Amino acid sequence: MRADLVVVGSGLFGATVAQRAAEELGAHVVVVERRDHVGGNAYSSPDPDTGIEAHRYGSHIFHTSNEQVWSYANRFTAFNDYRHHVYACHAEEIFPLPINLGTINQFFRTALGPEAARALIAEHAAEITAEPANLEEKAISLIGRPLYEAFIRGYTAKQWQTDPTQLDAAIITRLPVRLNYNNRYFSDRHEGIPTGGYGAWVERMLDHPRIELRLGEDFLAGDGPISRDACVGQVPVVYTGAVDRFFGHRCGALTWRTLDFDTRILPTGDHQGTAVINYPDADVPYTRIHEFRHYQPERPHPDDATVIMREYSRMAGPDDDPYYPVGTPADRARLARYQRLAAELEAQQVAFGGRLGSYRYLDMDRAIAAALDCFEKAVRPWFRH
Ligand code: FAD
Ligand code: UDP
Repeated sequence: MRADLVVVGSGLFGATVAQRAAEELGAHVVVVERRDHVGGNAYSSPDPDTGIEAHRYGSHIFHTSNEQVWSYANRFTAFNDYRHHVYACHAEEIFPLPINLGTINQFFRTALGPEAARALIAEHAAEITAEPANLEEKAISLIGRPLYEAFIRGYTAKQWQTDPTQLDAAIITRLPVRLNYNNRYFSDRHEGIPTGGYGAWVERMLDHPRIELRLGEDFLAGDGPISRDACVGQVPVVYTGAVDRFFGHRCGALTWRTLDFDTRILPTGDHQGTAVINYPDADVPYTRIHEFRHYQPERPHPDDATVIMREYSRMAGPDDDPYYPVGTPADRARLARYQRLAAELEAQQVAFGGRLGSYRYLDMDRAIAAALDCFEKAVRPWFRH
């Protein structure tokens, strides 16, 4: 086996680096992946019973305003013209999200225009007079207490298993509040679902005569030819697994939220009429229900079966899949120590990247953009002889 470069992890970050190195540098790349499939958390594949493309680790919608990333992605897959909309089920009533004029008028049983709605929200938000110090205060300052209690407090407590007064205000600024009837979830120039699914997209990226894929192998376990002990210092490595695990948790474990998914096939052609409904009420244990057929309306689907997935959120234990970095002050201090250890390995041609390797929440387009950057700044110079 020849390896000029080892890439650990076949998510969008690892697949991008591997593809670029094989094509641009003529390098022989070995991609090692712990799971039995490529694509990382974005992975989707057809459900064997219904043929409906199911997203194994939760709904993924590709959206970007980055033209370089968009044209790179389009080399390997086409995208349909899906536009994401999310609804919330509160007190047995369905409301549009993100919070917009439709949500406000339905919730307060009124018919306000934008200016009157702005005045109403300002009145409800008046209790916050100082700079908001946490997520709860930030949310109330943006939407007022009644809407906060209906749509944010319970959902956020379930998502983060933490009281919203203890969470960073920045989390809530990801969700826009609109004083018009626009209820598109994302505002990027390009949006869609890969027509062949995420698994097929990444398989296509890695389908190159100079890329060897090793599925079901953990780079950090054992001492085989493609393991940390055998490779570091011998062959360049791009590592996209968890940074704390690479260093044996020697500076302490970083905290993550994990998700549990309960997937079911229901005997109906349409269970909820849309892809995602959020459940913000505290007495419902799950945070949202996904129904995958709605992502690909261009495909034929059975009219007597549908695939749904209930999503539950909790803190990750040592054996759980990490999904969202929590980022407490203690995490930030630990991360800085891991970053120093990682920097010391640069001389041995080891680079860390991706969601797990950088301990950052990254949307798919940002994962690809970061990988293209890692390829140019770290990998390409390694091959300049
Ligand atoms: P990953 O996809 O996590 O890939 C890392 C890979 O490395 C994994 O396959 C893992 O098995 C492998 N690995 C780890 N350690 C080892 C090891 N020691 N040996 C071998 N292999 C290893 N983004 C969007 O743009 N739109 C969305 O709608 C969206 N929805 C999301 C929903 C959820 C629930 C989550 C959690 C994320 C969502 N994202 C979304 C973000 C998206 O999942 C990430 O952008 C993407 O996963 C980042 O790719 P990555 O390669 O950095 O990491
Ligand atoms: N959020 C909420 N209610 C919702 C949707 C989102 O309170 O119906 C809050 C919640 O704190 C969440 C944050 O807004 O963590 C960001 O929402 P997004 O949908 O981006 O995040 P995710 O669900 O992926 O964490």
